[in-house]
Amino acid sequence: MKTVAFLGLGNMGQPMTRNLVQAGFPVIGFDPSSVAQDAAEKQGVKRATSAAEAASSADVVITMLPTGDNVRDAYLGASGVIAASRKGALLMDSSTISSTVTVEIAAAARAAGRRMIDAPVSGGTPRAHSGTLTFMVGGEATDVEHARPLLEAMGQRIYHVGASGAGHTAKLCNNILSGICMAGTVEALALGVANGLDPAILSDVMRNSSGNNYALERYHPFPGLMENVPSANGFAGGFRSDFQLKDMRLAKELANSSKVLAAMGNLATELFAIHCQNGHAGEDYSSIIKLALDLDSY
Ligand code: NAD
Repeated sequence: MKTVAFLGLGNMGQPMTRNLVQAGFPVIGFDPSSVAQDAAEKQGVKRATSAAEAASSADVVITMLPTGDNVRDAYLGASGVIAASRKGALLMDSSTISSTVTVEIAAAARAAGRRMIDAPVSGGTPRAHSGTLTFMVGGEATDVEHARPLLEAMGQRIYHVGASGAGHTAKLCNNILSGICMAGTVEALALGVANGLDPAILSDVMRNSSGNNYALERYHPFPGLMENVPSANGFAGGFRSDFQLKDMRLAKELANSSKVLAAMGNLATELFAIHCQNGHAGEDYSSIIKLALDLDSY
């Protein structure tokens, strides 16, 4: 069994490492947060005192970090993952970042005799827990095959979408759409309840009509209508609104640089920016329902 170093034991890293451990992989983890380290240790992840220590003792290094700057800092530099990891090690970044940063890091990894793939995920914390994430992977086919047993321990659908960086491009396309869908779903719900409709019945109607989407089916934003989603838990955990905003801004940059009109994405990005400014940056992105309606009245 390959030994896996996992850096970033947060909302996603926690359940992803648990599934790796359950599949029989020895996992050594590092996170600067001692709370995250303690929780991971309880589920069988060996504790490392630094990212370099974890990377130096593994065949595969996986990163699940907040931003592109975090990822760049983690990989590059004298005590970064590239320098600390074994020659020939497979490096895999599952964070959501820009493909430009991925391509830059993958080139540095190759120059140092390491292999790297980008393997961002979709499905959020519910699918991370159930081991049914969707992976969109960029890199060499042989490296993707090498990673497949690990990807299958954490995910259900593995798509090899192209060369280095293509995984992150696919992820940004998905997230601009999921942001638009969530922002649109809360508007439709607000419109219905403001006009006397029961949100549960309206949701059922739309789920079985042309308005159906992931938010309605699996990630309902209206509290009390679905179990095991952040809206059932005061919008704690899940996918932070400021991360959704980060991803939509990255997608906007990509649209600008590739001269693609992203009018809907631009509008939804503004809504998430206002929502974060209103003090909800750390809440799950489905909390954007608070921008559309006053939850205390329902
Ligand atoms: P999180 O904030 O819950 O966890 C990130 C963890 O990384 C934190 O515990 C932090 O302490 C740790 N960290 C920061 N720098 C580190 C370093 N140098 N070494 C080791 N650990 C470090 O974030 P999350 O929700 O788990 O998201 C992680 C990434 O996955 C983000 O890029 C996000 O956009 C993406 N993502 C999240 C979801 C989701 O639903 N939460 C879904 C898909 C993709």
